[in-house]
Amino acid sequence: MRPFMRRLRDLVWGADGVDDADGDAAACAPAVNAAGGLPWQTVFATCPFLRTLDAHERTQLVRLASEFLRSKSLSTAHGLAIDDFMRASIAAQACLPVLELGLGWYEGWRGIVVYPGPFKVVREDIDEFGVTHVWEEELAGEAWPGGPVILSWEDAQSSEAGYNVVIHEFAHKLAMHSGNDAGIPTAPLGLSDEDWQLALERSFALVESAIRCGRPLPIDHYAASSPAEFFAVMSEQFFTGPSVLAQHLPELHAALRCFYRQDPLERLHRWARDTAQSH
Ligand SMILES: [Zn+2]
Repeated sequence: MRPFMRRLRDLVWGADGVDDADGDAAACAPAVNAAGGLPWQTVFATCPFLRTLDAHERTQLVRLASEFLRSKSLSTAHGLAIDDFMRASIAAQACLPVLELGLGWYEGWRGIVVYPGPFKVVREDIDEFGVTHVWEEELAGEAWPGGPVILSWEDAQSSEAGYNVVIHEFAHKLAMHSGNDAGIPTAPLGLSDEDWQLALERSFALVESAIRCGRPLPIDHYAASSPAEFFAVMSEQFFTGPSVLAQHLPELHAALRCFYRQDPLERLHRWARDTAQSH
């Protein structure tokens, strides 16, 4: 679940001089065929953390995203019209986390529902005295076990570092596919269960204690809601603002690199070098 937050933050692409994908990458980006007639080039040009992929990674992502679209059912709500950019953008963002893991992690469900913006859901709970409480929440995204992923298109287009509702909800899907009751996926290859759990628990404790002491880290505090939300929010950070994660939570950064079998920070450095050389 991703609560809707219209946040004004100082953590933006370029704030630390590293996560800066504002250069004219589209001009020097390797060409990728418009596989399936979808505007993949526009997606790569407009999405900061996808701009940094090299030619081989782009080809691999387009292949995966095309297969993803064939296996899923994308629909909209509240009169939102589906267009090719939306299909390509959501598929590319959803498939980035499984670029090296494969689409098998997204098996067992089909639906993706896209709302124009944040959407309201009604919650109901019965307390210890048997009193029913009903309230409304405004969400940017939600993932149902065995069911659909629901997304706000407005939020799915955000280019804010550390905030990505598509990666967030699909990180939950990874945990639902192969994870524990706490909403954490099973340990990656190359890392023992114990080391994986310790990396997550120690990093979670660091974030919690920093918030408690009034010295919060420059990451979304929603991460401290629960271990499941921690994994999902840190996955957003890993792909869209990796230098912040590597700087403040290096153990977790290394563990996520192992889990996703990707290194977005190294990718970002390579992209920055190539972009500088081409100017
Ligand atoms: Zn969530």
